[in-house]
This record gives sequence, C-alpha cells and structure tokens, in this order.
Amino acid sequence: MSSSKHSDLSARLSKIVGPRRVRVEAAHLDELSWDALSEGRLHPLKRPETALPLCVVEPGTTAEVQKIIRLANEERIPIVPYGGGSGLMGGALSICPNILLDLRGMNQILAIDTAAHSARVQAGVVLEALEKKLNDASFILGHDPWTLPVATVGGAISTNSVGYRAGIYGSMGDQVLGLEAVMADGEILRTRGVRKSSAGINLNALLIGGEGCFGIITEATVRIFPAPQARLLSGFMFESFAQGYAAVQDMFLRRLRPALLDFGDDAEKHEAGAVLYLGFEGNRDTVEAEASRARSICAQRGGTRLPDGEAEGFFRDRHVIARRFMQNRRQRRERGRDGIYHDWIHVALPASKVLAFRAAAATIIERRSVRLHESGLWVHPELFSMRLGTADHGTNQAQLRLEETIEELLRLAQKMGGSMEYTHGIGVKLASLMAEEHGYGLEVMRRIKQMLDPNGILNPGKMGL
Ligand SMILES: Cc1cc2nc3c(=O)[nH]c(=O)nc-3n(C[C@H](O)[C@H](O)[C@H](O)COP(=O)(O)OP(=O)(O)OC[C@H]3O[C@@H](n4cnc5c(N)ncnc54)[C@H](O)[C@@H]3O)c2cc1C
Repeated sequence: MSSSKHSDLSARLSKIVGPRRVRVEAAHLDELSWDALSEGRLHPLKRPETALPLCVVEPGTTAEVQKIIRLANEERIPIVPYGGGSGLMGGALSICPNILLDLRGMNQILAIDTAAHSARVQAGVVLEALEKKLNDASFILGHDPWTLPVATVGGAISTNSVGYRAGIYGSMGDQVLGLEAVMADGEILRTRGVRKSSAGINLNALLIGGEGCFGIITEATVRIFPAPQARLLSGFMFESFAQGYAAVQDMFLRRLRPALLDFGDDAEKHEAGAVLYLGFEGNRDTVEAEASRARSICAQRGGTRLPDGEAEGFFRDRHVIARRFMQNRRQRRERGRDGIYHDWIHVALPASKVLAFRAAAATIIERRSVRLHESGLWVHPELFSMRLGTADHGTNQAQLRLEETIEELLRLAQKMGGSMEYTHGIGVKLASLMAEEHGYGLEVMRRIKQMLDPNGILNPGKMGL
C-alpha cells in the first residue's frame, strides 16, 4: 500500500475510533503481528509469509467495529481480530498486511444475572477480570485455562478453549448462551442468550471455534456457576500409565465427574510411573462422597496417595506459566532459535482407543528418533496429549523431523476416529490437515465462508479456509 493510501486509511480509521486508538508505531505493530505460536513450532519450509499489520485499531464499541469492518470490506483490506494474543496455533498471526483489530479495549462487564446464572460481557474482557468480578457475587466462570490472566472471552470462544475445571463446567464453547458478532458485510448477528432453543440451527456454532473467520464477536452471554461450597484435591501415583488409565475409566464408568483431572507420565518430574491429580468441587457432602469413592478406586487399581499439599500446589500454580508468558512474549516467539524444539499434540479419541493410540504413537516416535517427554490426559479419558522434543545444531533437520512426527501422529488420531486437536484451534499451524479432519465438511465451511465473506476479509488464510 502506498504511503498516501496508508495515511488516508489511518485518517479514516481515526475518524471512527479517535486518533489515539489507531496505532502505527513499528514496535507495536511488530509485537501484535504474532500470537503465542513460537518460531520453533513452524519449520521455515512450512511457515507462511508474515507481514506487519498496516495499523492496529482499538475499538471500544460494537458500532465502531461495524464501521471498521465496512471500511475494510470496501477497501478489501483483511482484518485480523486479536484478543489476548495467547493462541498457540497462529490464529492471530499477521500473514498479510491487515488492519489488526485489538479487541482488548472492549472490556466491559455489561451484566451479571445471578438469578439466570449468566453474564453478558464485551468480547475483550480478560477471563481473570471476569472471574474476579463473579467471585465478588459468589459465582465463578467455570472456564479456567492456564491463560486465565491473559486470554479474552472472545479469543476463548473463538478457539473453543478448554480449562482446568472443564470436567463439570464444559469448554468455553459449552458455556456460550448467546453472541453478538459483526459479520463481514458489517451486519450484526445477535443470537438469543437462552439455555436451549429449537428454533432452527444454532448460529453460535458459526463463531465458536471460528477463529474470527466468520465474524467478529463483540459481546457474549455466558453461563456462570454458583461458587462451590467445597473443593477437594488429591494426587495419586501409579506404577504405569495403563494402571492409572484404568482407574480413570473406572471412575467414569461409576459416573464420578471430577472438575479437575490431570494425569500424566512426565519423566522430568517423576522418574517412573504416572501421576493423577483429581479435584472434586460442589456441595460439601457430595464432594466428600465423590472424593472418597475416587480414593478407593485408585487404591484398587494400585495407586498410592500423594501428600495433599502436592495436588494443592499443582492447582494453586496453574496460571504461573501464563504470567511468565506475558512477561516475556518476545522470548517465547523466538523459541527454537537455539536449536531446541518442543511441540505437542492434544487429540480427542474414543476412550476405548487411547491406549492403542499411545502404543502406536510410541513406535512412530521411536522410529523418527524424537524424544517423548510426557503423555497424559486432561479433563476426560478421551482427551489425550503428548509433549515431544528434539534438538539439533542449526541444521533444522531435527525441527522438520519433529514437525513430520507431529503430523503423522495427528493423522493416526484421525484414522482411529479421533479429532486432531481438542483445545487450541487450527490457525496456520494445522491448516494443512483440515481436509483429512473434515472431508466434505471443509468444503461446507468454505462455501459458508465464501457466502458470508465473499471478499475474504475476515482473518484470511486461517483454518484452511
Ligand atoms: C502458556 C500458555 C498456556 C495456555 N493454556 C491453555 C489452556 O489451558 N487451555 C486452552 O484452551 N488454551 C490454552 N492456551 C492457548 C490460548 O490461551 C487459548 O487459545 C485462548 O483461548 C486464546 O485467547 P486469546 O484471547 O489470547 O485469543 P487470541 O490468541 O488473541 O486469538 C485466538 C483466535 O481467536 C481470534 N479472535 C480473538 N478475539 C476474537 C473475537 N472477539 N472475535 C472473533 N475472533 C477472535 C483470533 O483472530 C485468533 O484466531 C495457552 C497458551 C499459552 C501461551
């Protein structure tokens, strides 16, 4: 874009939001051109071109977003919505010159309705700010990811994020009752904030996990929950992953539903065996009965109880990594430049296939000479993760090997009837696997996208659309 066109664009945007909320400083553009996808997780051969945004615009109201989108549509300039910028798949990465829509200024908590168990908020509200406000009213949000202090409601809905306590409260998408969104043509879509409707298809689904490709979420009405009277946390050590997995399956078979379930065989933390952390929360009597039942199941399956302080410390420190990320975003983005690479998979599988997948994955990982640091479950027995790593001395061969291993594992999960990603979305990182994931479904998504956004202005190049 020529410099006169560029300054014309800034002037027109300034008329909408005021000059102070149109940012063009190079350092700011650079900072917001990346989310939390690090360079080490994208091999140079597979990395899309990146570009600085033309400018960053900070709207405060839905009407301002509407005017910005209309202008972008008229001028055919892509829009990249940006919440907390903590997305791990490059959903908010600037891959072409764009107007970057920084939604963090839309941070009003509009209503908390404790009788309806719902809250209506602007999309840029940071989850932790909402959580604190709800706690004052003896309620909780229920959605509690590592990134509670940085992620926004709009970003969490757009990635259909999963948090620590999702076992009883669901994913962020499950908590959505109603949404307000500005669509590519500038029209406003408002869905009704009710628990259940059978009046046609659920249009919230266009935006939940939509990564800003179908509309910009400006407001959300979400479910909230009365603060639990009690929470009981406990930890167990099992000799093997299979033993611990059997205990988890027994618990679900007996209809126990822990709010928190974190199970894994992290070799760096524990030399051998696998550790299970459980958290039950709700009414005191129920929680005590559930925790006692879980203890006896774990004992029957050979689990030994860890000191209570360990599980409590694990839960207390769950947001520490996100706070570190906020202090040093830049360093995180450059991870991998030292020739040490890490990546992970978070796949959803039928519970009956988790152990078979884990065994087949171990064979692939060994064949490809990649190191497996950890495998585990989060929230449900179906949600399985692996953390892998490798290192080289600047040749990038190890990075490529790691990336190809990840791809092979994700394809294996798809072949076994699973989904390649249950929590972080697709962005640019997993876009090339969307055809295998959805088959004709990807074509359906592309047609919807084409119809709603014929000029392709909303976050183009993401999700394989
Ligand atoms: C250290 C660390 C720990 C993490 N832990 C977790 C975890 O426990 N659970 C989990 O699920 N994820 C986790 N993540 C990933 C990340 O925090 C989540 O994906 C989060 O939901 C992203 O929210 P955000 O506001 O930062 O979104 P962003 O990164 O800003 O955006 C995410 C996507 O949504 C789009 N978007 C943002 N706002 C809007 C809007 N209003 N309307 C439309 N589109 C929008 C963006 O364009 C992008 O495609 C973690 C990340 C890090 C760095």
